[in-house]
Amino acid sequence: MIPSPVSFPLAATMSTPHEVLLCDTVQTLANAIERLRGVTSIGMDCEGQNLGITGGSLSILALRPIGKDETTYLFDFLYFSDAELRPLFDILEDEAILKLVWDGRQDFSELIHGHNVELRNVLDLQLADIISRIMRGLGHVDRMKRLKGCGCPAWAIKNPSVQRLGWLKGAVDEHSVLPGPMTKEKADHDKWLLRPLSPTQIEYAARDVLFIDLLYRHFIAHNYIDMQTLPALSMEYVTARRERRAGATETHGLLPICFLENRSGKNGEFTKCYACWRYLPKRAFMDDQWDTAVRMPGAGGRCISCFARARCNAFMKRAHCRYEKRQKDKGETEEKKQKQERDGLPK
Ligand SMILES: [Zn+2]
Repeated sequence: MIPSPVSFPLAATMSTPHEVLLCDTVQTLANAIERLRGVTSIGMDCEGQNLGITGGSLSILALRPIGKDETTYLFDFLYFSDAELRPLFDILEDEAILKLVWDGRQDFSELIHGHNVELRNVLDLQLADIISRIMRGLGHVDRMKRLKGCGCPAWAIKNPSVQRLGWLKGAVDEHSVLPGPMTKEKADHDKWLLRPLSPTQIEYAARDVLFIDLLYRHFIAHNYIDMQTLPALSMEYVTARRERRAGATETHGLLPICFLENRSGKNGEFTKCYACWRYLPKRAFMDDQWDTAVRMPGAGGRCISCFARARCNAFMKRAHCRYEKRQKDKGETEEKKQKQERDGLPK
């Protein structure tokens, strides 16, 4: 018998129930698959450690059927073999079922490299969010505001091609899709491979896929999604790491806006960036990088966003070092103060 779904606090702010079913036994897995039969579009999100990058591992895959029932299914990958998960993988590989994701790049990479599963028919709402900025008339000032603080160098901020990708919870706020305030619990990402999962982790995993559902409905209502072009672009976006997992420093949150252009019939006017593996037009590159990318494919030639990404990573690394030094200094000061108090010396 299928256990009763669990309700979470977020339900209080929702007009529809928010029920979560954790599938961690053969029986709950079979029942969930049965209930998912016949869905045509489904929200999807993964949780795990270092997802999609070197050394990554998948912990929970969340699915939420759109418009069928109001349950979110959490599949616990630590309790099943890939053979037992095959019926679930059939859903992920089914061309007839639209998978809605938010930044599916790491999910695709983890599934194909970790489980030999090829995610098909994907719509990435992170791209729809970028398109919505253009449709909402958000221009240069908004773009600069988003890029500020991520360490992006000034020359890249000035280049209109460079966009900062949004994060899921930021988009939920920006598009005001929640009728009430968002619950603030954070999951500890270092603990996704430990069991049992805490209620906070379960809620966290279920909440992201609920947000995907809400954003999808909002984006459809506002015509931000062009079903003629976005599914193909999304597939190109998420499959960039089909050949191998990216290294930890190879991922980044910048997108050359020209990636969203229609490139059909324009062979030769686009070339592949060595670092992000995207096909981009000439204006997404500095001149010398374009020449290298065209003349020696695979040997070098990075787009402007990837050049800026290297600077962002260095900036974040320096910021992290400064933070660690401050923490260390703080600890030493505190230790000194306690010693003075113990010794009865003046401060
Ligand atoms: Zn690039």
